[in-house]
Amino acid sequence: MEKKHIFIQTFGCQMNVHDSEKIMTLMERSGYESCDDMRKADLIIINTCSIREKAAQKVYSQLGRLKELKREKPGLILGVGGCLAQQWGSKFIERIPFLDLVFGTHNIHMLPELVTRIEKTKAPVVQIEFQESVKSLNIPALSSNGKISAYITIMQGCNNFCSYCVVPYLRGREESRSFREIADEVKSLAHRGVKEITLLGQNVNSYGASNSNGHDFADLLREIDKIGGIERIRFTTSHPKDLSDKLIHCFSETDKLCEHIHLPVQAGSNRILKMMNRCYTIKDYLEKVDKLRAVCPEISITSDIIVGFPGETDRDFQATIDMMKKIRFDGIFSFNYSEREGTDAAKLGDTVSIFVKRERLRLVQSLQEEHTIEKHRAHVGNIVEILVEGMSKNSREDMTGRTRTNKIVNFRGNHELIGKAVHVKITDAYLHSLRGELTEEEVTKC
Ligand code: SF4
Repeated sequence: MEKKHIFIQTFGCQMNVHDSEKIMTLMERSGYESCDDMRKADLIIINTCSIREKAAQKVYSQLGRLKELKREKPGLILGVGGCLAQQWGSKFIERIPFLDLVFGTHNIHMLPELVTRIEKTKAPVVQIEFQESVKSLNIPALSSNGKISAYITIMQGCNNFCSYCVVPYLRGREESRSFREIADEVKSLAHRGVKEITLLGQNVNSYGASNSNGHDFADLLREIDKIGGIERIRFTTSHPKDLSDKLIHCFSETDKLCEHIHLPVQAGSNRILKMMNRCYTIKDYLEKVDKLRAVCPEISITSDIIVGFPGETDRDFQATIDMMKKIRFDGIFSFNYSEREGTDAAKLGDTVSIFVKRERLRLVQSLQEEHTIEKHRAHVGNIVEILVEGMSKNSREDMTGRTRTNKIVNFRGNHELIGKAVHVKITDAYLHSLRGELTEEEVTKC
């Protein structure tokens, strides 16, 4: 029988990227084959994100562009999944009448059945009910075959209700996967040649807390550290309030845990942090950073910052700048506050003008550029270990990989190095990457 083709486009975070890999696994089992050209596809899935207004607008623009394709190929099934689908449900079909399928964040495992139903009935389907447990948590991402790095979801959902965030409403309450299943999946990935794994969750630090399985996140890291074949362990993302001393000590007591943590701070003012319902003060955050640096002096720390939260004054904003100067992050993702319907913060109104937000964002980003380049320059002359991921985007003669501290390094090399850990001497530093040359010398920095 001729295979049908599926094309998936993903918007948003790594969780969504990984969910798309799971969708691919499920549909491959149902006889579909992945394709890179949406014009050849029999099934197109748009995996959506609604964390910021901009991400949602991109999804609507893309769906608008697909109208013509759907007219040319009436048999094409067009579906949307992810947070925006969960949020909008059947309203999505009212807004985009040529859509065939809307499925929510707890319904991924039902996808083959939903697609078959549409093939038979030709009628649109909306499936967004939360389930008692998220069945897709245990679906492995087979598309990791041949990859050096792979993601593993260890938990989904969130209980924190930060006042600006839609995730708890769209992904449901926290649910952790079983300790054994995760360890088995890591072993199977190692068997297929994966060297680096990234453990994913909305707040991995609270792994095991909601449906206790007798193990916390630090226990999980220690277990994975013992698995042969895996060389590097990373995780994202972490809520500062749940970063325990036990977890901090994993950075010095486990060999494979990479020296990098993404620890979203969001703002430097205690008044704003309280309004955001973040449950920590800047003093608490700074103490955690100090402990991390005491345990692991080379650790790279990245963060998220929101500017223009409702009611943010010049003084509050200055506290963010002061905090950045004190901590000197290795990198940040920074955003203008974007009001999300249904959240507590939306009740406060979007009170900071777009002009003020833009100027604050510009100031935050230019300060961070100074810090990033300063950190990168400090690497020049060091010998670092790179896990080679592939060819550089900019030159066919260059290979690319990352340091354990998650910095991109490009260097002259060949394809045979892909998947290997090599030593590179850093020769140049730029804002987004480092440049180096292969060496036999021993590593001096991670
Ligand atoms: S911790 Fe806060 S920001 Fe992160 S997903 Fe949960 S509610 Fe959203």
